[in-house]
Amino acid sequence: MTEDKVLEMMKELGALHHGHFQLSSGRHSDTYFQCARLLQYPELAKELGAAMGAFFKESACDLVVSPALGGILIGHEMARAMGRRFVFTERKDGVMMIRRGFAMDPGEKVIIAEDVVTRGTSLLEVVKVVEEAGGQVVGLTSIIDRTSGEVELPLPLKSLAKVKVETWEPDDCPLCREGVEVVKPGSRGN
Ligand SMILES: [Zn+2]
Repeated sequence: MTEDKVLEMMKELGALHHGHFQLSSGRHSDTYFQCARLLQYPELAKELGAAMGAFFKESACDLVVSPALGGILIGHEMARAMGRRFVFTERKDGVMMIRRGFAMDPGEKVIIAEDVVTRGTSLLEVVKVVEEAGGQVVGLTSIIDRTSGEVELPLPLKSLAKVKVETWEPDDCPLCREGVEVVKPGSRGN
């Protein structure tokens, strides 16, 4: 599963959109990723999950944790490929937490899996939640890394594809200046 293949599939399956978008951070961009369009095909989701699991062949890991909603499908597939259990976090009143009676033993080793990482907001919230629950974060992974290396994370982010996407503050956005209508897609991180 090479980076080129991932990006080619994203284009083919309509997961990579060009236009004028307002991201969850409030910034504007000309590119938007909708990984759900890839993951609607279970065989493909399985393949992507296995490729992400392969990053951590040499790592001790007890479970995979992902934030709802975007991370659940890929995290679950990754956990399946690794033969580990899977837990998701979710927001309640805007605060990321572990619910549904999910628990981890002190010191359990956790890999956090996401679909797209842009500003790293959700990822960092999940790190905090896992640590508060007693887990030890040993890896970070995503299908798409669009951080351009500009986000400070506690561990290296291992991704299937790194994509450099320009974003602008609305005041600075060339598409706004051209009068192109702005679209606010999906939920945070997508
Ligand atoms: Zn704009």
